[in-house]
Amino acid sequence: MTAKILDGKAIAEELRNSIKDEVERQVAQGNKRPGLAVIMVGEDPASQVYVRNKKLACEKAGFKDVSEVLPASTSQEEVLALIDKLNADDDVHGIIVQLPVPDHINPEEIIERIHPCKDVDGFHPYNVGRLATRMPQLMPCTPHGVMTMLAKTGIPLRGLNAVVVGASNIVGVPMMLELLNERATVTICHSATKDLAEQVGRADLVVVGVGIPNMVKGDWIKDGAIVIDVGINRMDDGKLCGDVEYDVAKEKASWITPVPGGVGPMTIATLLENTMKVAYQLDCKLK
Ligand code: NDP
Repeated sequence: MTAKILDGKAIAEELRNSIKDEVERQVAQGNKRPGLAVIMVGEDPASQVYVRNKKLACEKAGFKDVSEVLPASTSQEEVLALIDKLNADDDVHGIIVQLPVPDHINPEEIIERIHPCKDVDGFHPYNVGRLATRMPQLMPCTPHGVMTMLAKTGIPLRGLNAVVVGASNIVGVPMMLELLNERATVTICHSATKDLAEQVGRADLVVVGVGIPNMVKGDWIKDGAIVIDVGINRMDDGKLCGDVEYDVAKEKASWITPVPGGVGPMTIATLLENTMKVAYQLDCKLK
């Protein structure tokens, strides 16, 4: 079997176009443009690329970009004061802090300071708790983007054996919760998992987000499984590569995501989706 490709680039473009159309419809009715604030502290080169891409995506979708780039010397108190200001600003619907932050900044305190109803990364413990109790509000962008892609396969997730490899707050844990909420039977693997090949081998659906190139071998994959590769690894030749041994895995899987052009483009599109939700739909119950 050769897998069908889950084309994240095309699915993300479709989503971004529908968001753009909805923004113009709302603006024509006199509503505000969604405003997104991306806060970057310091000059991490990879972060600079991500922030530039987010700004570009904002512009194309007709959002108001209110991003702030702060010098690496900015203090914790100054970042918190900026978040307080953005929390109080009615033109700002979404606030995210680009990670990693310099060592003297405590990211947990920063994330908790963002108002949960503007937390469009879905990292605030309030939003994680809502997802865990099946009352989701704002969901982390990468796993939620994966859910949008999975819907495109038309395959019901209910009852599938799903194996998530990687257990970070950004990828693995919210992915586990999203799949559980759809009533997949979920196993989550991490650095202490003993029998990774065996776990992956019984998965109808495997989602990998570890950050080690080609770590999941193609011959581990069960025939007909759906394979979602979240990993983005920059190789010595400058090319990007995923965490799954793609060439072998694609001969066994029913569906597979490529890297690049798979999960990556979905993350920014879902960030826009979350911000639009805050602007036009979310009925915030918190002060
Ligand atoms: P983290 O480093 O935060 O987490 C990595 C996870 O992998 C941890 O849970 C770790 O386990 C687990 N792990 C490490 N080694 C092994 C192993 N040998 N076997 C099984 N699990 C292992 O990374 P992120 O979650 O932030 O990112 C993961 C990957 O996804 C990276 O390549 C990143 O670039 C990519 N990414 C892609 C995004 C996209 O938009 N497509 C967005 C975010 C990330 P433990 O918890 O025990 O330490």
